[in-house]
This record gives sequence, structure tokens and C-alpha cells, in this order.
Amino acid sequence: MDYEAFFNGHLGRLRDEGRYRVFAELERIVGAFPRARLHREGEAPRDVTVWCSNDYLAMGQHPAVVEAMQAAIGAQGSGAGGTRNISGTNTLHAALERELAQLHGKEAALVFTSGYVANETTLQTLGAMLPRCELYSDAFNHASMIAGIRHSGATRRIFRHNDPRHLEELLSAADPATPKIVAFESVYSMDGDVSPIGEICDVAHRHGALTYLDEVHAVGMYGTHGAGVAERDGVLDKVDIVQATLAKAFGVVGGYIASTAATVDFVRSCGSGFIFTTSLPPAIAAAALASVRLVSGQPELRTRHQERAATLKRRLAAAGLPVMPSTTHIVPVFVGDAALCKQASDLLLERHAIYVQPINYPTVPRGTERLRLTPTPLHGDDDMARLVTALQDVWQTLGLSSRAAAE
Ligand code: PMP
Repeated sequence: MDYEAFFNGHLGRLRDEGRYRVFAELERIVGAFPRARLHREGEAPRDVTVWCSNDYLAMGQHPAVVEAMQAAIGAQGSGAGGTRNISGTNTLHAALERELAQLHGKEAALVFTSGYVANETTLQTLGAMLPRCELYSDAFNHASMIAGIRHSGATRRIFRHNDPRHLEELLSAADPATPKIVAFESVYSMDGDVSPIGEICDVAHRHGALTYLDEVHAVGMYGTHGAGVAERDGVLDKVDIVQATLAKAFGVVGGYIASTAATVDFVRSCGSGFIFTTSLPPAIAAAALASVRLVSGQPELRTRHQERAATLKRRLAAAGLPVMPSTTHIVPVFVGDAALCKQASDLLLERHAIYVQPINYPTVPRGTERLRLTPTPLHGDDDMARLVTALQDVWQTLGLSSRAAAE
């Protein structure tokens, strides 16, 4: 086989469809967020305003978080020194896990190298090891959950997005004796809609299923202590296993689950993606610990974040831009075509020094391509005014529709 021709052929098709991924090379500058420096080959670096960061609360540059990381590097060095089992468990990992368990009101927590790995490993392990397990998965679940479910080899059933009635139908038809897991998210990252957690959990529990909730886009940002939408909705105890990330609202990197002591011990003891990889550097755990403590103790951060998101949505709608009906801090603006979405993103950058990455298939279904805006507490009114004017210019230049749905 001509491997090079195969790879280049595929890449060429992605380019033709406008779906070829071009990474913006950024230099982040402490204290400057949401500004960052964009680097491109053959060009002088220039400052841009970032409107698509998942550092939702700008904790990645918070002085206390940066200091905690620096102090831990100074004291302990760069790496953890091994897998968790073989010399790589640090006091900081243990402290972080205790903090996370407490945040979610669970007996125990387990930290992984990323949120992706946490989902993949946990679902794969449970699905593979529970005898004849059936996994019920929301149609819009993240790729990491889908990967875990697929790799587990367990029977997979998809229920319609955010539809407890469909889940009920599927569960009613199943053998009551088989173990089951219902896996879903709280905030869906590309649409910004929220699941009916309590209802889904009630349906699952009526049929003897475990509930598995991904709060990656909610932890730190919802609930009195920032434990996520389950805390906000008063249903923490209905979620059997919660999964989240240290990389978004907490601004660092890593993922975790929190659950009963036995569940966590089971994944710790049997999960390949946990056991056979070097643990996170102690400095990462130190920064994450500082961030979790800060964020959970500062409800005003969440209030400000929600206010910024609401203001942005209002301003976009008032300007006639097709803001999609999100109920959260995620603000998608509908384009509906991959090539146009890429052009819109390019124009924002070239003409207006605004960076928003285009979101295309397979991240979202074809025909629903969009610009996904993520306001943070550090985006000011002037940033918003510039963004709205820039989007209006781009919409006019490209002749884009003001309707937030496919024709
Ligand atoms: N779950 C969801 C819903 C996500 O959107 C993501 C990543 N964006 C992940 C899990 C993976 O988290 P991480 O980035 O920490 O690997």
C-alpha cells in the first residue's frame, strides 16, 4: 500500500470540505487573559482576544494557582516518578483526591491524567467487568465516553438526547437481572444545554442501573460550591459516579471520578488507563488543589461568569446574530456550513484580532457548524462590544443567515 498517498488523500478531502484542522499557535501571557499572542510562521506575533478558551474562569493564570505550581516544582521537581502503583503516588495526589471527594459529597475520588482518560477508563472497566453489563448512553455523549463504552465490549444502547422517556422505554425492555449503567453529561459542551439529571437518575434507579454523570463543563461553575449542575439541582446523591476535569474551570489538567469507596477502589484496582501510566506531576496536583479550593470557596466567581454569559447572549441577539438556545455559559453562534464557518473564523482573526475556532463535524453534526463562544469573568463590556461589531461585519461579508437553525 502507498501509505503516504492514503494519508494525503484523506487530508485532501478534509481540506476540500473545509474541515481540515488548523491550530492557532498561541502564547499565553500571565495577567493578560483574555488576550494572548498569536504566532504564525513568517509573520510577526500579534495580540488577539481569545473567545473560545475552556479556561472558563481564567484560573489557569490565577496567581495562587501559578504560585502553588511553582512552589511544588521547587520542592519536588518536575515529574511524579512512576505510575500510581510504583512510586508515583504523591501526598499531593492523595490530598487532591480527598478534596474532590468532599466537593462532590462522595466517599472517595480518583485522579486520572485527563478527563478523557477518566471517562474512557472507568466506562471500559465497569462495562467489561460487570457480567453481561449494558451501557445506556445519551446520543450526544462525548467521544471519551463513547470510546470507553465501545472498548468495554458491553452491549450499548443509545437513548435520545436528554430524553428520560426514551431511556425508560429502553430500560423497560431489558432483562431486569443484568447490570446496567446510564452514562450522560450535565452540560453539553457544543450546544450548552443541560440534562434533567434528577429525572434521568430516577428512571435509571427504578431499573436498577448505576448512574454515571460527566460534569466536565459544569464543575467549578454551577452549584454553591461549584460541584456542578448536580449540586445546583440538589441531586448530588442521585449520581452514583461523577466524572469531571481539572482542565476547564479549574484551569490545570487532569480528570477524575468520585463515587463510593468500593466503586473507586474497583476502578483503581482494575482500570488499565489508571494503572499503566505515569501519574500527573505533583506540581499539577498542587495547582489543581489550590484551584479547587479557591473556586469552591468563591461563589461570586460563578455569579460573575453567569452574568457575563447572559450579557453576551443578550447583546448577540440584539445585534441580530443567530445565537443558539443555550441555557449555560456556552454561547454557540450558528453558521451551518463547514467552509463558511472556517471563513468566518479566519475573518474574525484577520480583520478584528479575535480568535474563535470553527466547530465542525464530527464535533457537531454536519449542517450545524458553529462558532462556539465562551465568555469568562475577564471578558469586559468593551470586549463584548468589539466582538459583536466584528461578528456583524463577518456575517455581512459572508452573507450569513441570522437564523439559528438549518434551513
Ligand atoms: N467530557 C467532555 C464532555 C468533554 O467535552 C471533554 C473535553 N473537552 C472531556 C470529557 C475530556 O476532558 P479533558 O479535556 O480533561 O481530557
